[in-house]
Amino acid sequence: MQKFIAGNWKMNGQLPDIASVKAIAAAAQNYPSVDTALCLPATLIAPAASALPDYPIGAQDCHSAVSGAHTGCISAVMLKEAGASLSIVGHSERRAAQHESDAEVRAKALAAKSAGLSVIVCVGETEAERDANMAVAVVLRQLDHSLPDEAASDWLSVAYEPVWAIGTGRIPSAGDVEQIHGAIRADLEARFGADGAKIRILYGGSMNGDNAASLLAIPNVDGGLIGGASLSADKFMPIVAAAAAV
Ligand code: PEP
Repeated sequence: MQKFIAGNWKMNGQLPDIASVKAIAAAAQNYPSVDTALCLPATLIAPAASALPDYPIGAQDCHSAVSGAHTGCISAVMLKEAGASLSIVGHSERRAAQHESDAEVRAKALAAKSAGLSVIVCVGETEAERDANMAVAVVLRQLDHSLPDEAASDWLSVAYEPVWAIGTGRIPSAGDVEQIHGAIRADLEARFGADGAKIRILYGGSMNGDNAASLLAIPNVDGGLIGGASLSADKFMPIVAAAAAV
């Protein structure tokens, strides 16, 4: 399976930072065996997509409706029109701060798919849930309720992002990553049959150029969702290079 390294810029970046998007897109051409994409703040999608029409630019969220009375929200159709080709949904920062439920995440995934976007659905346990030995159960519950029945490998990836590893510099042990990714894989195959074996499962949470090679070598780790280390080519490209070398 071709590895997929996606960046999540979160609420970072203004117009001058399109230079970093350009640098990453140019450098990514040296690694044709790795799929890459950058999920940008909504305000940068159109300028980035028009500067780089052949590079996958993504959003970080979308609304589940096509249009309507949803002040401040952006629909998947609008993101597609702006030039996005994918969207993250269900990031833990939104599940926590915007109280997004699994049902809402599922509706957003379906809306994004209907608009013609690829989708990364995020799942992951909190530190308290891990300490209570509930990590596998929590992740599988989120997965089962967040993925629509229409899930398929040609438009969907899953990102396992332990909440306590995001932006903290801490990562789970290789054994813990293998356990969760294996459980996600088994669940995907049970629900979606042979295609469930092809849905890419990304790891996210403090992945960087130093730890990417070992994380990406773990079975069923088919790529990474990268926050802080996706903001510049010098931090992002070592992760892409590690993915190419695995
Ligand atoms: C993320 O927010 O999806 C993420 C993985 O962040 P970081 O790489 O900064 O931990």
